[in-house]
Amino acid sequence: MLTGLTIAIIGGDARQLEVIRKLTEQEAKVFLVGFDQLDHGFTGATKCKLNELDFGVIDSIILPVSGTATDGSVATVFSNETVILTQHDLEKTKPNCTIYSGISNDYLDEIVKGANRSLIKLMERDDIAIYNSIPTVEGTIMMAIQHTDYTIHGSNIMVLGLGRTGVSISRAFSALGAHVKVGARDSAHLARITEMGLTPFHISQLGEHVENTDICINTIPSFILNQTVLSRMTPRTLILDLATRPGGTDFDFAEKQGIKALLAPGLPGIVAPKTAGQIIANVLCNLLSQATTDRKE
Ligand code: NAP
Repeated sequence: MLTGLTIAIIGGDARQLEVIRKLTEQEAKVFLVGFDQLDHGFTGATKCKLNELDFGVIDSIILPVSGTATDGSVATVFSNETVILTQHDLEKTKPNCTIYSGISNDYLDEIVKGANRSLIKLMERDDIAIYNSIPTVEGTIMMAIQHTDYTIHGSNIMVLGLGRTGVSISRAFSALGAHVKVGARDSAHLARITEMGLTPFHISQLGEHVENTDICINTIPSFILNQTVLSRMTPRTLILDLATRPGGTDFDFAEKQGIKALLAPGLPGIVAPKTAGQIIANVLCNLLSQATTDRKE
């Protein structure tokens, strides 16, 4: 239980509703900033504006998956209010206040550091990334079906990267009967790809492998599908780029080559916001209760 904890949830989308539900069920006292247009009321949660929030009683702040923008603004799907989080706000929290955010940027890193508070980037955690790969796979399959006129079964799929998302994508497309080739740079990853019954290739030889690809799914957050590689791809290839913005594709050049290339960010929140919210809520709850236990000891 999170009894005695006071938490501010600042901004966010439908995924935060699962977080609010879980935290209030666990008896945390929750303040909601950026939720004034949310009809649903949660027992134990109080809506307020940022300038009404008493930061001095806050043990933890929960930001959306996107964290803040570079000007400090926080995305608020359930409000038209502009919410800008500042270092001054954080300085007013309890000294051991922890900020939880999906991802971060220089702005958020700096205000947290300047206020001498700690920041946990949830999306960097293996548990969240692996759980999140489940709705990500479903979203990728959905996009593959929407943007092709052939079955995944029997098609040539290229997956770039064998990280937490790449493993799940490769396995799922293979299970659907596709011929899956996976590009990686780590020798252990190349060994794992072979063990999975898939075709490995070293990412440095990407250009030599792209020719026969029906769908290329990129999970590498680096500029990998560049002009040299794209020039060797056929226009019938569909690129689904899952890597974090701006993706790993030269989208302008792809368009010039007649290759359909789609950046597909935030698939879990699009295809399964409830599940994606529950993934965050469950891990957050464990982290918060662990932090509470640590403080008592
Ligand atoms: P991850 O576990 O860190 O995997 C990334 C993979 O990319 C690793 O295998 C890494 O290889 C490889 N890599 C990184 N830089 C490389 C480079 N310059 N050349 C070759 N390989 C490189 O990350 P993840 O959790 O799978 O996530 C992958 C990306 O997808 C991230 O950008 C993440 O934000 C994004 N994502 C998007 C969605 C969506 O809905 N679109 C959902 C989940 C994740 P090494 O291990 O050798 O470094």
